[in-house]
Amino acid sequence: MELNSKSPDGPIETRWERHRFHLKLVNPANKRKYTIIMVGSGLAGGSAAATLGELGYNVKCFCFQDSPRRAHSIAAQGGINAAKNYHNDGDSIYRLFYDTVKGGDFRARESNVYRLADISVDIIDQCVAQGVPFAREYSGYLDNRSFGGAQVSRTFYARGQTGQQLLLGAYQALERQVGNGTVTMYPRTEMLDLIVIDGRARGIVTRNLVTGKIESHMADAVVLGTGGYGNVFYLSTNAKGSNATAIWRAHKRGALFANPCFTQIHPTCIPVSGEYQSKLTLMSESLRNDGRVWVPKQKGDKRDPAKIPEDERDYFLERKYPSFGNLVPRDVASRNAKMVCDEGRGVGETGLAVYLDFRDAIKRLGESTIKERYGNLFDMYERITGENPYRTPMRIYPAIHYTMGGLWVDYNLMSTIPGMYVIGEANFSDHGANRLGASALMQGLADGYFVLPNTIGDYLASEKFEKVDASHPAAREAEAKVNESVRRLLSAKGTRTVDSYHRELGKIMWEHCGMARNANGLKTALQQIPELREQFWRDVKVLGTGEELNQSLEKAGRVADFFELAELMCLDALERNESCGGHFREEYQTPDGEAARDDEHYAYVAAWEFAGAGKPPVLHKEPLTFEYVHPSQRSYK
Ligand SMILES: Cc1cc2nc3c(=O)[nH]c(=O)nc-3n(C[C@H](O)[C@H](O)[C@H](O)COP(=O)(O)OP(=O)(O)OC[C@H]3O[C@@H](n4cnc5c(N)ncnc54)[C@H](O)[C@@H]3O)c2cc1C
Repeated sequence: MELNSKSPDGPIETRWERHRFHLKLVNPANKRKYTIIMVGSGLAGGSAAATLGELGYNVKCFCFQDSPRRAHSIAAQGGINAAKNYHNDGDSIYRLFYDTVKGGDFRARESNVYRLADISVDIIDQCVAQGVPFAREYSGYLDNRSFGGAQVSRTFYARGQTGQQLLLGAYQALERQVGNGTVTMYPRTEMLDLIVIDGRARGIVTRNLVTGKIESHMADAVVLGTGGYGNVFYLSTNAKGSNATAIWRAHKRGALFANPCFTQIHPTCIPVSGEYQSKLTLMSESLRNDGRVWVPKQKGDKRDPAKIPEDERDYFLERKYPSFGNLVPRDVASRNAKMVCDEGRGVGETGLAVYLDFRDAIKRLGESTIKERYGNLFDMYERITGENPYRTPMRIYPAIHYTMGGLWVDYNLMSTIPGMYVIGEANFSDHGANRLGASALMQGLADGYFVLPNTIGDYLASEKFEKVDASHPAAREAEAKVNESVRRLLSAKGTRTVDSYHRELGKIMWEHCGMARNANGLKTALQQIPELREQFWRDVKVLGTGEELNQSLEKAGRVADFFELAELMCLDALERNESCGGHFREEYQTPDGEAARDDEHYAYVAAWEFAGAGKPPVLHKEPLTFEYVHPSQRSYK
């Protein structure tokens, strides 16, 4: 299979503009003749559905929650990047582009990243026009703060609730279209398969999560904005419902899966506290603007942090990376936290934590300023741990947070299945091997408000669409497959809960494909996962029936997909014999423990093709070239 990225050439500053000019347009009066299925109503799907509805297309929008407002995007805390340069601190579109390519450890497409940086400024304008209440400074201008991997302040925020406020903006725009009749919402409806007719995506099979009804929905194009797959690790900062089912089932229908092993470990999460914990909580990266990360210099020092004098503390990020200090990118901060804990200098009962200390910031700025900036995060921390972070340093540890991998898309955001587009965290597009903080919201909204609404028209205007309905044999075949998998899960009648299997899978993944990986561990995982998967299908216990609200059944289907995806992730990690960004192979590191890339052999996107059940997947490579930001050893020192 030939992977054509459709990445334009010529000067990078004008690539998107020129590309857009050459895209075909659909006449305004013809738009209502086309139906587009949008799976997902988070920031990517919600913004895209609203914009496509506004343009006049007929949109059917699906989500598994009871309201689009509950999409996982609501959890985003810290902010959204944009190169507005309001602080006059040297920012520019080019600098955001540069930081993102470098931050991604030179494993992203330059054309995509430049477009993202370029569009970032329009996103803020659009959201302000919608009434999103971004924080402002005394002059009335929007305020900014800093995030990792940047030496400028370009992150726009609404306290620690930026995702919620942005989602309310997109939701209002979406509901307006629902009111206008251009968008029909299908909440509590889960996509369980993709319908492909004559090689093109023409519909989806869904299960109504309240009644259990399985049915087909047909369209002229299908868009997936279904979020990330971090929950394959069981414990993550993602919403419990986040899953890979839509993208995985589309993968099995022919969509290539790109860089599945590129997962992001976030350095500042509340540490795991017990065996039965089912969720981890993020403490936003924005806290590293004012919080200082440290551990005791002495191994096994269990003193109360307040009793550890200044000269016995190791502010290890400030010491090792003086230029970026506590705001090094996430992969670097996470690895260093692991390193000091592995040395026996971790804090708290388990020794798997480091301090994030606000003592100095409170002294300098006063408690009320810190409260104003991060109050809701401090409250959340206190509710979970019982400790007051204004008085005693937070304890934090890295945890799974985001997935840079996802379905492969070209510059138009189209997957390898014609007519199927993938947006937001569900695609692999812009972050390379490590996403910089505050850039997921930027990408989701760039895709949804600005890119897809332009590119999808080109496809619709270029193709002829015969009318198809749910009686089409391809729809019937997909429905039968979904029915069969539901039946199989319900009839296993085994002894172990879905969660117990998921937890065990998560442990394998964290141990062998987590913050650090090596060939032996990955080979072990590749042996253990199929064994556990086989046991799951034989011995899983799914209570209830298929004709009612049945969350155990929902979870079972998602965990079954996680089992298959987990194997592909390990295979991808094993195949990539280098370290880059969030993919840290212990065999490949520089003498001072940094990631050692191998640009000669691995400067490509690894795009995997499903070759059929029981057959090894086929690897395709999209070479990456760098004309503007030349690959070098990333340094934040
Ligand atoms: C705790 C936390 C804090 C974060 N903070 C920030 C931040 O400050 N800044 C930043 O840039 N990024 C942040 N991120 C990352 C960012 O929130 C996500 O990457 C982003 O919101 C993903 O948006 P999305 O629209 O792609 O997917 P989601 O918001 O996950 O939406 C997915 C949608 O798809 C639907 N869906 C999924 N599968 C199916 C299916 N099979 N059938 C039907 N519907 C389906 C869901 O119902 C939902 O509507 C944070 C992430 C976490 C976990």
